[in-house]
Amino acid sequence: MPEKLLEVRDLKTYFYTTKGVVKAVDGISFTLNKGEVMGLAGESGCGKSTTAYSIIRLVPPPGRIVGGKIIFEGKNLLDMDSEEYRRKIRWKKISMVFQGAMNALNPVYTIGDQLAEVFMIHRGMTKREAMPHVYELLSMVGIDPKRAKSYPHELSGGMKQRVMIAMALALHPPLVIADEPTTALDVVVQAQIMNLLKKLQREHGISIILITHDLSLIAEIADKVAIMYAGKIVEYGTADQVYLNPQHPYTKALLNSIPRIRGEISKLEWIPGQPPDLIAPPPGCRFHPRCKFKMDICMKEEPPVIEVEPGHYVACWLHAKK
Ligand code: SF4
Repeated sequence: MPEKLLEVRDLKTYFYTTKGVVKAVDGISFTLNKGEVMGLAGESGCGKSTTAYSIIRLVPPPGRIVGGKIIFEGKNLLDMDSEEYRRKIRWKKISMVFQGAMNALNPVYTIGDQLAEVFMIHRGMTKREAMPHVYELLSMVGIDPKRAKSYPHELSGGMKQRVMIAMALALHPPLVIADEPTTALDVVVQAQIMNLLKKLQREHGISIILITHDLSLIAEIADKVAIMYAGKIVEYGTADQVYLNPQHPYTKALLNSIPRIRGEISKLEWIPGQPPDLIAPPPGCRFHPRCKFKMDICMKEEPPVIEVEPGHYVACWLHAKK
């Protein structure tokens, strides 16, 4: 029986802007077991990164978590105040590889200094004590330890991303959230970074939430997949269930928009229209303005979440009707 590591229940994170309330994450639920990789996919602005920032409790203002539970190792993280969370959870138990390594590293410190800081702050080590750990981390992510003296601008994009991964793994957290870890990298470096994540996940038994808009990246590594649309999870299941037997019209359209290099050549699809404004999302199913299967009920009532096969959930009236 797999052991639960993280359970997100009915999580709601809203941004209170002068134009109105942006419901960026609006009642999502999922479970991640120990050692599992879950891919969280969807178009830009669907709430993927806000989900990550909610779990690591770094939602920027004017955002706020307004409802739900984030249960990690049996405890609801939302019951902790921010100081307790910082001391006990952030980086020690849950860490994050931030989007855009180019901007996430401090340009005026060497990467060695930046990595050493993790051990100095969280483990109370001196710099001299921290440096052997820094060299070990750099070798683990395939960087020559001599590069500890380099400044970020002296490294390639792929190396900077490796440094970010090293930083996230420094304290051996059981859960790492990787937010678009390969954005702005060329395809060869993308493949290297994904292989590195796979290797580290296998060797260290960590759980990963991989956030990306690129479904082909998730297919490489994920055990489970959650597809988000306009602040909600519309389909969730094992990678095989979602890739081989997609049930939600949005998931099907996303998969049909990826060119295939094997099997039958099929015509590529695109999804007409744009994701909705989350201040005033469409009533009923939020995907209805773009869905070619929409029915009257889709425009009026929110679809229920249906378990179409064990562990495979879909929020769509087509399945509720069946
Ligand atoms: Fe399409 Fe209706 Fe299903 Fe939404 S609920 S995806 S509009 S069929």
